[in-house]
Amino acid sequence: VVDVHGVHKSFGPLQVLRGVDLSVRAGEVTVILGPSGSGKSTLLRTINHLEKVNRGWIRIDGELIGYRGSRGKLYELKEKEVRAQRTRIGFVFQNFNLFPHLTVLDNLVEAPVAALRRPRAEAEATARRLLERVGLSDKAGAYPRQLSGGQQQRVAIARALALEPKVLLLDEPTSALDPELVGEVLDVIKDLAHTGTTMIVVTHEIGFAREVADTVVFMDGGVVVEQGPPAAVLDAPRHARTRAFLGKVL
Ligand code: ATP
Ligand code: MG
Repeated sequence: VVDVHGVHKSFGPLQVLRGVDLSVRAGEVTVILGPSGSGKSTLLRTINHLEKVNRGWIRIDGELIGYRGSRGKLYELKEKEVRAQRTRIGFVFQNFNLFPHLTVLDNLVEAPVAALRRPRAEAEATARRLLERVGLSDKAGAYPRQLSGGQQQRVAIARALALEPKVLLLDEPTSALDPELVGEVLDVIKDLAHTGTTMIVVTHEIGFAREVADTVVFMDGGVVVEQGPPAAVLDAPRHARTRAFLGKVL
């Protein structure tokens, strides 16, 4: 589904991604680990074209993200076309980013109606189904500020799913939560994993990675140092940098 090829990204003189290759198959969960500043968030942001790449390309279901190819040349898509692509790429942030002035239900209904032109009744029915799925049926009429962090993050996940994304990107979805709220959010993500949602998750939750990842990717210094099944990368890392990192977080 997701194909990242030779992606380079710099901010001024700072080279943040130095040739990243990654491929994620339908229904699989990829967990990205790595030290602070290794480029994990930047990689996720390039996948939905919140950041433009300097070199390389990204395809989702074969479709180039942010560009149109023609006779061997690449042309940038218009902002409107990029937005259309982005609606099919779910993104869940560390800090939930719900619309504070909308109820939980309206948070889920807004984008399908505005971006996908779904009839409101249909969008509401989908929203209620998704809220049930994340265990928040009784919160449809609440406002984000009335919810705990864990509940807000579950709403954020449901909101991303409301657009029926081809892939769901999650950037440290539990790192802003109090420890006792981490489990409920991880449980929702595990449930999605077991029902075939394609996901790329940046997280430091090693236990979660071991349990649900099909592939664990270790990034350092803007490159993928090592990737493979959790048992290989987490229990028998081949690279010293991976071992050093795991030694710190385990
Ligand atoms: P963390 O674990 O702390 O979230 P990360 O692996 O997600 O780290 P990134 O957020 O991708 O790391 O950042 C990689 C580097 O790029 C950092 O040095 C960061 O300061 C820099 N960086 C990220 N975004 C920008 C930006 N918009 N402008 C300038 N520098 C940036
Ligand atoms: Mg980050």
